[in-house]
Amino acid sequence: MKFDVAVVGASPAGLSAAASSARTGARTVLFDRNLASVPNANTVFDGMAAAASLNVDHFSIHQVIGMRLVSPSGRILEIDARGHFLDRKRFYAHHLNFAADCGAEIVESEVRSVSRSADGMELSLSSGDVIDAMIVIDAGGVDSRLASSMFKTMRHPEDVAWAVEVDVRYPGIGEEYRFEYWVGSIAPGWKATFSPAGDDMATLGVFVRRHGRDVQRFLDLFIRRFINRRAGSYPGIERMKILETRRGGDPIAALPGRIVDKGIMVTGGAAAQSGLAYSMRAGEICGEVAGRAALAGDASRKRLSEYSRRWWRELGPQYVLGRASLETLRSMSDAEIDRLFLALSGRNLLVPGGLWKKSANAFLNVTRSMPGMLPRFLLNLLRF
Ligand SMILES: Cc1cc2nc3c(=O)[nH]c(=O)nc-3n(C[C@H](O)[C@H](O)[C@H](O)COP(=O)(O)OP(=O)(O)OC[C@H]3O[C@@H](n4cnc5c(N)ncnc54)[C@H](O)[C@@H]3O)c2cc1C
Repeated sequence: MKFDVAVVGASPAGLSAAASSARTGARTVLFDRNLASVPNANTVFDGMAAAASLNVDHFSIHQVIGMRLVSPSGRILEIDARGHFLDRKRFYAHHLNFAADCGAEIVESEVRSVSRSADGMELSLSSGDVIDAMIVIDAGGVDSRLASSMFKTMRHPEDVAWAVEVDVRYPGIGEEYRFEYWVGSIAPGWKATFSPAGDDMATLGVFVRRHGRDVQRFLDLFIRRFINRRAGSYPGIERMKILETRRGGDPIAALPGRIVDKGIMVTGGAAAQSGLAYSMRAGEICGEVAGRAALAGDASRKRLSEYSRRWWRELGPQYVLGRASLETLRSMSDAEIDRLFLALSGRNLLVPGGLWKKSANAFLNVTRSMPGMLPRFLLNLLRF
């Protein structure tokens, strides 16, 4: 069997890479070891969805009006930004069907290894079959070794956040209308999140950096703190039901390394392109470049680098600024975070407009409130 483009992993990025490659007319196949599994991401903000041209309204089961940031002393900073909790199963099933409708062949199988052959790439499947493709796209998530065994796909891999998230049920808890983000030592392990999912459902999660992959103890601590914090609003919340658990790595504080080489491209978590909306946009660019290159019979690194150039131009600066901001936050003491929250309260942190206007406004507000943060931020920016 010979394909033009083989995508490995039905991750959010892999789904959109397969669809956009197939749309170019390239013969495309998408492999996933378990098509019944559903990716983790469930919350998306309108600004990010719009920047990625992703329509999520149809899959929204609960709308939030913004974020509530919680500081170590419990101080609150509210940021208005409409977002959605998605019906994950329906959202990903739609994108799998869409890739198939665009012409991608969908195959449930593990890809054990990828290697170069005389006339392209060879994929060895768990069934023992060997498949030929001109171009392979590794969209297998942060743990994938297909491309990273050939070249360095990620910068700062030590900063992948290992996460555990649970669905919880308690009467009315899903009706809250702000996503919550705890920072500083109040958030066990690094950052902790609460995402209301409508009615009686919500998720609680911890994203832990530099403490290994077994992060259950951080979640247990967060759940205890969350229950204490909400006890006044929800009598009996200690009887909250904990349902499904999901685990995984989120490369939110890492950055892409090399994302193309001859015959192979990397997208999504495998390339540290974190986040649902932006990783789908990255996958879309990747699939389009791969499909066109395969049809032109050119899988050279030079030709495939168009993906890298377009990604860096369109989305790269946001990831670099994001990492510098997260590193600056990580370097701050609890007292500094509390002072920053106090100084920022009442200020309009998110203004309408494009990325640069939004970033400039947030940057000016933060540096005016705490000028001492500027050198630290610039240093983190230089170390990207
Ligand atoms: C718990 C958790 C919650 C998150 N919540 C959010 C959120 O609400 N919003 C948001 O924007 N981001 C969220 N993120 C981040 C986001 O999920 C990821 O950054 C994004 O989904 C990218 O996923 P991924 O590329 O890492 O792939 P994954 O979602 O890990 O998918 C990889 C896929 O590839 C398949 N695969 C891997 N290797 C092979 C192989 N060799 N052969 C065949 N198949 C293979 C796997 O079966 C899997 O289906 C969350 C992350 C975690 C860990």
